Amino acid sequence: MRTPRSTCHDLKGGRKPSISIHNVQLVGGRWLCPCGKNYKSKTSLSLHMRLECGKEPQFKCDHCPYKAYQKIALQKHTYCKHRRVVQTE
Ligand SMILES: [Zn+2]
Ligand SMILES: [Zn+2]
Repeated sequence: MRTPRSTCHDLKGGRKPSISIHNVQLVGGRWLCPCGKNYKSKTSLSLHMRLECGKEPQFKCDHCPYKAYQKIALQKHTYCKHRRVVQTE
């Protein structure tokens, strides 16, 4: 009798921790993202990379084509430009 052989290989490397900050540089005290943005702190940069970098802004203005990455930015914009308050649920 033959026993089927498992051809499973151990995958090397495995998963990286939630956010990998590679190819970023610290230039003149600023953390530089490959997209061109730079931040004072590595935390802000990792936040940017997680929420913004390479993504479409998800908060859109109802009154003009403006888009924002953060709700607070859209709220500010809507108030400043349109004198309206963004309805939040
Ligand atoms: Zn970026
Ligand atoms: Zn607008």
